[in-house]
Amino acid sequence: MKVTAFSNNLFQLTRLVAFNCYLVREDDGFTLIDTNMSGQAQAIMQGARKLGFPITRILLTHAHVDHVGSLDALHDALPDVPVAISERDARFLTGDKSLDSSEPQVRLRGGYPVCQTKPTLLLHEGDRIGSLEVIATPGHTPGHIAFLDTRDRALIAGDAFQTQGGVAVSGTFELLFPLPALATWHKGLAEESARKLLALQPSVLAVGHGRMLSQPQVAMERAIRVMAETLAKAERKQSHVA
Ligand SMILES: [Zn+2]
Repeated sequence: MKVTAFSNNLFQLTRLVAFNCYLVREDDGFTLIDTNMSGQAQAIMQGARKLGFPITRILLTHAHVDHVGSLDALHDALPDVPVAISERDARFLTGDKSLDSSEPQVRLRGGYPVCQTKPTLLLHEGDRIGSLEVIATPGHTPGHIAFLDTRDRALIAGDAFQTQGGVAVSGTFELLFPLPALATWHKGLAEESARKLLALQPSVLAVGHGRMLSQPQVAMERAIRVMAETLAKAERKQSHVA
């Protein structure tokens, strides 16, 4: 895997150009955020080893296959390392793909594989794990979460945004890399979550697909505008039909 350092605290591991996971440095080692596709456990551990620290926590932004693919293999290799995901997306890991009655009844998209690993910690808005604060960002999946590093405001945003093929809110169709759009559950919620992330004034935007972007405010604003226009257009079309 390709290793890209953003700072002494944040490293991006990339598989096949566009599939990322992250290592966040803490006093006791690395927090791994997401586990990439299947077959990447050894490469991820090797990446951490080369940077000189063990993996001491595994956090997941959401339960899609390209983020939890190597979870079971990593858990087998590192059985004492705690695993955390949002309480909502944890249900997907068990194969339960039901929606809550309080949620928009929209079809789930993207691959949600069943995992053997039982999370040791279920996360909610505002929780703190080491230096990271949990930000609830539903939309791409019902229980999607992002992580804000409170030391330097680095934002590990999962698939709430993408930078591959252009900076976009997940759910906006980017011809050069349409995967996140095709896998997004609810675009309206995704737009709300994107605004919430912008308001955090992150110093860097680190996403599941694409390069890390420093000082991302202007690009995030533009991406949110495009998403809002797309949604407004779709709504106009629908009211026309009705
Ligand atoms: Zn995803």
